[in-house]
Amino acid sequence: GLTAGIVGLPNVGKSTLFNAITQAGVEAANYPFATIDPNVGVVEVPDARLRKLTELVNPKKTIPTAFEFTDIAGIVKGASKGEGLGNKFLANIREVDAICQVVRCFIDENITHVSGKVSPIDDIETINLELILADLELVEKRIQRVQKQVKSRDKNAAGELEALEIVLALLEDEKPARLAELNEDQAAIVKHFQLLTMKPMLYVANVGEDEVADADSNENVRLVREFAAQEGAEVIIICARIEEEIAELEPEERQEFLVDLGIEESGLDQLIHAAYNTLGLATYFTAGEKEVRAWTFKKGMKAPQCAGVIHSDFERGFIRAEVVAYDDLAAAGNMATVKEQGRYRSEGKEYVFQDGDVVTFRFNV
Ligand code: GDP
Repeated sequence: GLTAGIVGLPNVGKSTLFNAITQAGVEAANYPFATIDPNVGVVEVPDARLRKLTELVNPKKTIPTAFEFTDIAGIVKGASKGEGLGNKFLANIREVDAICQVVRCFIDENITHVSGKVSPIDDIETINLELILADLELVEKRIQRVQKQVKSRDKNAAGELEALEIVLALLEDEKPARLAELNEDQAAIVKHFQLLTMKPMLYVANVGEDEVADADSNENVRLVREFAAQEGAEVIIICARIEEEIAELEPEERQEFLVDLGIEESGLDQLIHAAYNTLGLATYFTAGEKEVRAWTFKKGMKAPQCAGVIHSDFERGFIRAEVVAYDDLAAAGNMATVKEQGRYRSEGKEYVFQDGDVVTFRFNV
């Protein structure tokens, strides 16, 4: 599956957040394939539609889909030059699909800040610069090699050089590669290099305990929002310490606690949704009497590939998918009505799955 990496300077609240993630955790029995890597936290993706489907179908069991966060060891200035855990850090980031950058917005005299003062934009720029420098080195090296290939009249080299030079210009300007305007071919070429700054970035503003309900009165949060807006990136507000407390509560107590805090959705749940969306992920459901279950697919995936999410045999032997949109099923209230209304469709190999599809697969074994 795809994973989002949690990064940030030391003492910004990463471990606290990651601890909340592992505490919130998943019921291991439902996810036998979930990784046992201690740096990976698997959480359930909250989805109100599951509750409704459970009411409609009354299954023995309901299983949400899961999402993985990876904890990435602290970065310091100079990481791209191998300072601190620099190289290992960058290698770990290369493995993730999106980056959640935790930014310290809370003020707490008792907790040292690495650069002596809480200054979120400086912090963000410190981290982003390390990522940019690492990419710059890689792109420059590659350009040197491709230039030689262009000289020896390698047909593909000219296109690659052009794509790399667009990215180079941005990096030299201390901007992330994801802002590059590339056509489809160029994007495919550049994707190949797994540049760190090509990965989508989410900013996680970690605010004080008394600030969550009214985070925008925090000047630091405003600054982070402004910065993120320039990049078209999303900002999630959390208080890592509170998330840790929420994660320890029983599900029934959580709702009450959130109401007391004056927020609708926990910061962690917001972060899960944001990371999921940023990665272009969506959910389909299977809804049988034994089990109602949510499954993750990548937007644009066709029916057989989506069947493969459950089991590779489903993909190999795929015949068709019987599909009803969640909204149609919820509105109708039961499957019989859906069928009468002609909203239960039989879809073939070319069908592109939609978020909220409720599906039965037909396949050869
Ligand atoms: P990391 O180095 O980024 O992993 O940071 P930690 O999660 O270890 O947090 C550093 C310190 O800041 C710890 O003492 C945390 O308890 C504290 N901390 C983290 N989040 C918050 C918060 O939201 N509010 C306050 N007041 N302290 C926090």
